[in-house]
Amino acid sequence: MTTWDAAVVGAGVFGAWTAWHLRRAGAAVLLVDAWGPGHSRASSGGESRLIRMSYGADEIYTRMAMRSLGMWRELFERRRQPLFHRTGVLSLGREDHPYSLATRETLRRCGVQMEWLQGHELARRYPQMRLAGEGAGAVFEPSGGVLMARRAVAAVVEDAREHGVVYETRAVGSPHDVPAGVVVFACGAWLPKMFPEILGQRIFPTRQEVFFFAPPAGSREFGPEAMPAWIDFTDPRGPYGAPDLESRGFKVAFDQHGGAFDPDAGDRRPSMEGTEAARAFLEARFPALGRAPLTEARVCQYGNTSSGDFLIDRHPRFANVWLVGGGSGHGFKHGPAVGEYVARQVLQGGDPEPRFGLSSKAEAQHRTVY
Ligand SMILES: Cc1cc2nc3c(=O)[nH]c(=O)nc-3n(C[C@H](O)[C@H](O)[C@H](O)COP(=O)(O)OP(=O)(O)OC[C@H]3O[C@@H](n4cnc5c(N)ncnc54)[C@H](O)[C@@H]3O)c2cc1C
Repeated sequence: MTTWDAAVVGAGVFGAWTAWHLRRAGAAVLLVDAWGPGHSRASSGGESRLIRMSYGADEIYTRMAMRSLGMWRELFERRRQPLFHRTGVLSLGREDHPYSLATRETLRRCGVQMEWLQGHELARRYPQMRLAGEGAGAVFEPSGGVLMARRAVAAVVEDAREHGVVYETRAVGSPHDVPAGVVVFACGAWLPKMFPEILGQRIFPTRQEVFFFAPPAGSREFGPEAMPAWIDFTDPRGPYGAPDLESRGFKVAFDQHGGAFDPDAGDRRPSMEGTEAARAFLEARFPALGRAPLTEARVCQYGNTSSGDFLIDRHPRFANVWLVGGGSGHGFKHGPAVGEYVARQVLQGGDPEPRFGLSSKAEAQHRTVY
């Protein structure tokens, strides 16, 4: 039986990039997934995911997103696959709102290109959007945009395989199932099922709906040439979306956590209430889309930690087993930097980031990362 230096269980964005970086560091790597890279029930299996550097005062994620964007772009350029749309990202806020102020300060400190757009300037640039009243504005990051998620994960796995990673479709029940020096479990929302004693109360999978609406016939005002990706911090439901990329429809979703969800058995039919909420939001914010036909909807799950910080740590009882997950609705963009960090920790050790530690994961949810 072949013994691998490292086996990675789970070929979502975290596992795929972990395998990629472990191989790059010289390890013999096996990557497995029960259903395939970026499959339809994986959190990484969506059509598109936003990449922004804006994270309020959370500089750690600003820097990880910056590092990751470079690695995503390098991969896509080398493979000649245009899977990043540099649409720019608008973080809608208010001039005096603490999150907007902190975002501007952090981006400035990190040297990220950005503009603060006051309401009148927003209205001039994006007449298709109705603003959220007095004091509205937005941080605009021209270098952010949208990653074509499912295909991006497939590209990472393909690249890893071309560089020597062996990929197999296989379900793993325990660390003993894979003969490897180190086993990394990057199982997304399946982690609490895999390790119920440790993670049953520390990773909270929630049900999330995503909707796509058709723009008016012949119109390009909702396409990437006229609209950036956006996230609305003025609304507690956290609406966000992307322009009509590749003519797949204008995307709208709410970042607010849905109900508890089982990634295997959960019902993936979109709800009537969710559809109506998305439509009502469009009517108020993008009036020309208020009656737009719904073209597609998906139900996906977040794998949340108590705070929204990722989980990257050793298993408390098995020194050669690593737990990687807790993407918490914002992890996709960070895949390259997460994989790099995991590979470094696994192969070289060094000071771990306390925010990623198992001991920082509480059993009650109190989200602080947005
Ligand atoms: C609707 C939605 C919108 C989002 N929007 C954004 C966004 O705009 N920007 C952003 O950065 N992030 C976003 N995210 C978050 C991001 O998609 C996730 O954080 C990220 O995809 C998590 O990746 P993962 O590799 O941890 O998990 P997954 O992609 O779920 O991968 C885990 C893999 O492990 C495999 N697996 C599980 N158990 C086993 C087993 N026993 N044996 C073998 N394989 C196993 C599964 O099959 C799966 O493929 C969003 C998430 C959702 C759901």
